[in-house]
Amino acid sequence: MLRNFLKLSKRKVNAPLCSCRNFTKTIMASDQDKFALPSAYAQSQTNVWVEYVQLAMAYKPLNIGQGFPDFAAPKYISQALCDVAQSDNPLLQQYTRGFGHIRLVNALSKLYSPLINREIDPQNEILVTSGAYEALFSTIMGHVDQGDEVIIIEPFFDCYEPMVLAARGIPRFIPLRKTTAGSTGVASSQEWALDTKELEGLFNSKTKAIIVNTPNNPLGKVFSKNELEIIANLCKKWNVLCISDEVYEWMVYKPNKHFRIATLPGMWERTITIGSAGKTFSVTGWKTGWAYGPAKLMHNLQMVHQNCVYVCPTPTQEAVARGFEYELPRLGQDDCYFISLPRELETKRDYMVKFLTETGMKPIIPEGGYFIMADYSPIAKDVDLSTEKDKYKDYRFTKWMTKNVGLQGIPSTAFYSEPNKNLSENFVRYCFIKEDHNLQKAADLLLNWRAGVK
Ligand code: PMP
Ligand code: GLN
Repeated sequence: MLRNFLKLSKRKVNAPLCSCRNFTKTIMASDQDKFALPSAYAQSQTNVWVEYVQLAMAYKPLNIGQGFPDFAAPKYISQALCDVAQSDNPLLQQYTRGFGHIRLVNALSKLYSPLINREIDPQNEILVTSGAYEALFSTIMGHVDQGDEVIIIEPFFDCYEPMVLAARGIPRFIPLRKTTAGSTGVASSQEWALDTKELEGLFNSKTKAIIVNTPNNPLGKVFSKNELEIIANLCKKWNVLCISDEVYEWMVYKPNKHFRIATLPGMWERTITIGSAGKTFSVTGWKTGWAYGPAKLMHNLQMVHQNCVYVCPTPTQEAVARGFEYELPRLGQDDCYFISLPRELETKRDYMVKFLTETGMKPIIPEGGYFIMADYSPIAKDVDLSTEKDKYKDYRFTKWMTKNVGLQGIPSTAFYSEPNKNLSENFVRYCFIKEDHNLQKAADLLLNWRAGVK
């Protein structure tokens, strides 16, 4: 065998078996599908973020599409990262504990234990992940098996569906529906609700999990305690896991309150809650997230995590830990970032609602999060949708706006399953966690365009 191997490697070095072009040809002729995407990803398509980040790079519009703050993070957290980078402790530049840097899991336990009304074991009940994305991935891959059904509430953060499919699960969708038919005035995300009967009809013996996202991206709905109780009771009845994506947990506007489903009776045992330092401290590029829940469930996430990411960057974990340590004594006070940020955002939200309404669109006032869904159909007649070739109108609308008005939003059908995209084709999603002068610029772009067409 060794002789054969040596013969082969010698031939490779001295006389290549075939040139690159021949090699490709050989593959094309004999093994056409060998290098196609594996079936787990076969249904995946390039997602809206890849496409719209590219679009923004090409046309340089004012980008109020993708969700990220365009202003600086609080000074203490960026300073913490500088301090860590220059620290005398060389170990802060090396691998840390795989399931989460000790200082960070301790800080997360201190933060969440009183919020969840139980002592969270920092080492067995918390996992630090590469952003909330990886927390979702590890949760889904760690629990969903072939043929398991996973209930997804629409509109949903777009990666839920491909992650469930990659785990060979079956997504079962249920849209939030507008409840106050024909109401006048500006709508609120509160008016979108689940139909309890429809939800009950989805649960069955094959249901493995339900994904709940509160506050919801993109709608901004904040689920009430009562709504979460209905979901919780069904989870308990059918022995179902609840995946609670709470990355916008601090961005909730008065009089709404964020409620954690894990605190409901019998729910800690079956809930994985997901958070993100990106959202919490306005540092989305740090890609540091976490999941917490009972040790038995967390073990499943740990197995996925240790075999892909294994360990997240030490400096960002250390800096996020220091950030939490700074905020912990301030929790609930006016100067706490988790209080001051939503206060600032509420003003931005109201300003955006105002100028979108003046433009002729019909925004839905979000109770939480930092996005607004707006019905653009009243002004669609002034947009030449025939210049774009996409299947869905909202893709054509947002592309036309990027190229002709210089303002970028996100098409909201990206947050719906194929059969339900028709529910959302008239909506665009805008992000308001932006500097006031940029929101002003967005208003000017829209209002000047409207003035020009009238
Ligand atoms: N869940 C939701 C609802 C989100 O909006 C985001 C933002 N990308 C994520 C998860 C992922 O967060 P992260 O940037 O921490 O990976
Ligand atoms: N969560 C952000 C949003 O919804 C960013 C998404 C992303 O870049 N994948 O816009």
